[in-house]
Amino acid sequence: MRAAQLVGYGEPLQIREVPRPEPGPGQVLIRVGGSGACHSDLHILSGEMRLLPELPWTLGHENAGWVEECGSGVSGLDRGTPVAVFGGWGCGRCRVCLSGQEQLCNTMTWGGIGSPGGYAEFLLVPAARHLVLLPDLEPAIAAPLTDAGLTPYHAVQHALPRLVAGSTAVVIGLGGLGHFGLQFVRELSAARIVAVDTSPAKRALALELGAAESLDPATDDIEAAVKRGGEGAAAVFDFVGAPSTLALAQSLVGRQGMVVIVGLAGGSLPYSFMGMPGESVVMGSTWGTRNELEEVLSLAATGRLSFHVETHSLDDINDVFDRLEHGQILGRAVLVP
Ligand code: NAD
Ligand code: ZN
Ligand code: ZN
Repeated sequence: MRAAQLVGYGEPLQIREVPRPEPGPGQVLIRVGGSGACHSDLHILSGEMRLLPELPWTLGHENAGWVEECGSGVSGLDRGTPVAVFGGWGCGRCRVCLSGQEQLCNTMTWGGIGSPGGYAEFLLVPAARHLVLLPDLEPAIAAPLTDAGLTPYHAVQHALPRLVAGSTAVVIGLGGLGHFGLQFVRELSAARIVAVDTSPAKRALALELGAAESLDPATDDIEAAVKRGGEGAAAVFDFVGAPSTLALAQSLVGRQGMVVIVGLAGGSLPYSFMGMPGESVVMGSTWGTRNELEEVLSLAATGRLSFHVETHSLDDINDVFDRLEHGQILGRAVLVP
C-alpha cells in the first residue's frame, strides 16, 4: 500500500510502498477515508517532539474510513461500515484505561504516534473497541472530529461547571482545534466568548462561529475586553501553548477560574499562590475519551457544528504541512489516500 512516511526529522515526507498490514486476532483493518493534518505532527516532523519509536514512520492520528477486514474474534463489523477511529490506544487493562481515559495510558501506543498511522491507504486498529460508527458523515469530513474535535471537547468538559451565564470564556488559537473548541463553548455553555488569534482570517472565522469579540494579541487590549466589571475569565483555553499565550492566559484568568493548556508550543507558566487569582486552576488537557468521541459525533450529526474542512490528495501532504506551518489553513486539512 502507499503511505506518506517520515524518513528523517526536518525532511519532507516521502510517498513509499509499504506492506499492507494483516489484521490479527481482535484487530480491524480500516481503509482510510481521510486523515487530518494536525499541528502536533509539525512538532514531531521538525524533531521538536521525539515520540516516534523508529524511522521511517507513518504518521496520521486523526482517522476515519471504512472497515476493510476483521481479524479472528471480531464480529458485528461488516466490510464497508463507515467508522471513526478513536486514537488514544491504551493497554485496556490499567486503572486509567478501565476508567475510560484510555488516552492517558502510559503505553503511548497511540495510532500515528506509537503505532503506524493513517497517512496511508490502510490503517491497522489494534482492537475493535477503538471504532465508533459514523453517523451520516463522510469519513474524510469526519476524520478531524477524532482529534481537532475531540481534544477541545475534552478540554471544555473540564471547565464546563464554571461557564455559567454572565461568565467569560477565552479561546486562544482558532486553528483546527480552536475553531471546534469555540463551538463547544457556544453549544454547551452560556459563557460570553472572547477569541484571540494572530491571524485576521482566523479572527473573522471566530466571529462567524459565535465569538462576541475576536482580538489581535499584538494590538488589542485583551485584558480590558475580558475583564468587564473587573472579573477575570472563568476559563481560558490555550490552543497554542507558547510562552506569550500562556502569559496572556495567566493575565486573563479570574478567581476560581481555570487555564486549560492544550497547545504544545513549548511555553510554561509560573504558578504561585500570590501570582494567581484566588483558587484558580491550571491544567493540561490530553486528547479525549472514546465516549466523548461518540458525543462529538452525535453533536456533529445534529448539524449544529460548522465544519471547516478541506480535503487534499495524500500526494500533496508536504504542501499541506507547509501551509499549516504558515497558518494558511482555515479549520482543518484532511489527506485522502
Ligand atoms: P493550527 O495550526 O491549526 O492552529 C493554531 C492557531 O493558533 C492558528 O489559528 C494560529 O494563527 C494561532 N496562533 C499561533 N500563534 C499564536 C499566538 N501567539 N497567539 C494567538 N494565536 C496564535 O493547530 P492545531 O492543529 O489546532 O493545534 C493547536 C495546538 O494543539 C498544537 O500545538 C498541537 O500540537 C496541540 N494539540 C494538542 C493536543 C492535546 O491533546 N493536548 C491534541 C492535538 C493538538
Ligand atoms: Zn493531533
Ligand atoms: Zn492502560
